Amino acid sequence: MKNIPNMFGSMVFNDNVMKTRLPKSAYKAIIHTVNEGSELEIGVANIVANAMKDWAIELGATHFTHWFQPMTGITAEKHDSFISADGQGKVIMEFSGKELVKGEPDASSFPSGGLRATFEARGYTVWDVSSYAFIKDDTLCIPTAFYSYSGEALDKKTPLLRSMEALNKEATNLLHILGNTEVTRVDTTVGPEQEYFLIDKDLWLKRPDLIYTGRTLFGARPAKGQELDDHYFGTLKPRVSAFMKDLDSELWKLGILAKTKHNEVAPAQHELAPIFSTTNIATDHNQLTMEVAKKVAAKHNLVCLLHEKPFSGVNGSGKHNNWSISTSTGVNLLEPGKTPSSNTQFLLFLSAVVKAVDEHQDLLRLSAASAANDHRLGANEAPPAIISMFIGDDLGAIVESIVNGTPYKDVGKLTMDTGSHLLPNFKKDTTDRNRTSPFAFTGNKFEFRMLGSSFSISGPNIVLNTVVANTLAEFSSVLKDETDIEAAVGKLIKDTLIKHSRIIFNGNNYSEEWVIEAEKRGLSNLKSTVDVLPCFISEKSIDVFTKMGVFTESEVHARYEILLEEYSKCINIEALTAFDMAKRTILPSCLSYQGEIVSLINAKTQAGLKCTTEIEIANYVGELCDLLYEDINTLETVLTEAHTIEDSLANARFYHDSVFACMNNLRAVADTLECNVGSSYWPYPTYGELLYSVN
Ligand code: ADP
Ligand code: MG
Repeated sequence: MKNIPNMFGSMVFNDNVMKTRLPKSAYKAIIHTVNEGSELEIGVANIVANAMKDWAIELGATHFTHWFQPMTGITAEKHDSFISADGQGKVIMEFSGKELVKGEPDASSFPSGGLRATFEARGYTVWDVSSYAFIKDDTLCIPTAFYSYSGEALDKKTPLLRSMEALNKEATNLLHILGNTEVTRVDTTVGPEQEYFLIDKDLWLKRPDLIYTGRTLFGARPAKGQELDDHYFGTLKPRVSAFMKDLDSELWKLGILAKTKHNEVAPAQHELAPIFSTTNIATDHNQLTMEVAKKVAAKHNLVCLLHEKPFSGVNGSGKHNNWSISTSTGVNLLEPGKTPSSNTQFLLFLSAVVKAVDEHQDLLRLSAASAANDHRLGANEAPPAIISMFIGDDLGAIVESIVNGTPYKDVGKLTMDTGSHLLPNFKKDTTDRNRTSPFAFTGNKFEFRMLGSSFSISGPNIVLNTVVANTLAEFSSVLKDETDIEAAVGKLIKDTLIKHSRIIFNGNNYSEEWVIEAEKRGLSNLKSTVDVLPCFISEKSIDVFTKMGVFTESEVHARYEILLEEYSKCINIEALTAFDMAKRTILPSCLSYQGEIVSLINAKTQAGLKCTTEIEIANYVGELCDLLYEDINTLETVLTEAHTIEDSLANARFYHDSVFACMNNLRAVADTLECNVGSSYWPYPTYGELLYSVN
């Protein structure tokens, strides 16, 4: 492999490149814009654009694009070449400051949830100066935010940046009240762990369900699944290893800090984790990681499946959102310090997170909701649909001592110094990880584990940042006029933890007892996407988003509509695909198998031979075919009805309760048929082939 430090970030117009390629004044102006969020003057933009163009052309780029993240969840780009006619039949390569900072793509074909009337189709893309430009496929990509003519966010970046701003403002303010006045900025940091499946492309091409929906809609379980636990952290197979090496170098070129790679629990499942970065960069990078993974897989004749549940009966894929808060002075606010004063600060921020998560369980749950993720949450492979927090035994004991007013007993082996301070001193958590918790404290950060593998991490982080910012604002208003700040903080921590400690649960989240216990505690258990979506437009939700300046009320309503529509469309595509596969391929194949047996029966009878077995098989397959045919017809009827329901919530509810249920019935019969017809008659690659053919 090439020299990695030289290769790293070689396709990124990063700080180093800017320092060497920009005049000092232009470089300073850019840094000022990044730090202060001020406007970039057009003169400076022209200089930067020109330097960027020269750099990009040297690296082979011919085009530029504003790279943005519309509500589809994937990224969008419209390529323009640098060429410009010189009036004498030749071209020159040009790129202006205006083209760098602002674009005007037609917004009419992106989901807007009704925000944009078709007569005002114009949308704007604006450079997110805090995220570096980069080169991908010979195109200079400029990370941008995307909004409508009237200024409403049409993308996933704008509200994320707003939520980061809200958190910055409220956290800085609170720290200043605590006397920590050196801090000028507070950012949230994220390290997203990404799970995926790798399968052979030739097999993938034979499965319309994988092609159209990203998951198998049919497929009987193979004889071997994940029960032997022999895949997790197992040796990488040569094709997988070659893919991963290639992926690492492509990501490194883009300045993405790909760090860890390993096999996951299910056969053919793998994981990649980067080193954490600031939330909007982490989000851009995760979007790129997913895109690059798919492209690199294709080069190896593989397909990278990012769907949350490509295969039934083996684990699905998620994304762990490791999240923390850090200051401009380099302090991680969720790092339990050693000195009592920093412990106080830590405990204050910890209780803010506890309160925020408890008060806005529904929004966090919502941020992890999708038709695809419904297959995982609550299915004993991923956290349940109930939000709770794991904080470990040490921290748990501290919270208990604060809540009960009892002395803190060190449950770990660590000694501690209570001294005469208001709050106990302690060291880093010593307990084991709890892998069943949806929201786990892991030493110096929280790991939000409910996200689906195909998600943009933007949504969950928008919610996290917003609800925590809101709590910090509330804390500031309690503390701002206090004279004895230490006493006031101690009381605030205690009051908060007493009120919200019901959200803390250190036990097994997969157990039946927890479901009952959670209900007793009054925690919400919103099982499906359709159950949780209405929370988005509740008064409480709109209140917190508008108060923190993250969404306007109309933006919330628009996003709610988009999510409902997305849910219904997803199930609709799946149902149509299942219908088509069952009716036009599975049923005919099974009938021809039955036909073959019937011919055999005829021949054998004529020859005077007994054919008990053949008759039994022909009858059984025939019965299953009848059932399959019945289910195909029912699915068709139900789908026709679904298309008549206008109200978006009622429509989504119908897709969940009726269409999805019919698809499951159909699948059950088809999977039984798969196990009962001759293997050469089965028209699709089996689970065994899909899961075990990459070597
Ligand atoms: P796991 O045991 O959950 O697999 P890993 O160590 O593989 O954990 O991944 C942890 C992730 O958390 C990494 O992406 C890492 O960069 C990230 N992380 C570490 N510290 C922070 C932090 N302060 N803020 C955000 N993410 C962090
Ligand atoms: Mg993890």
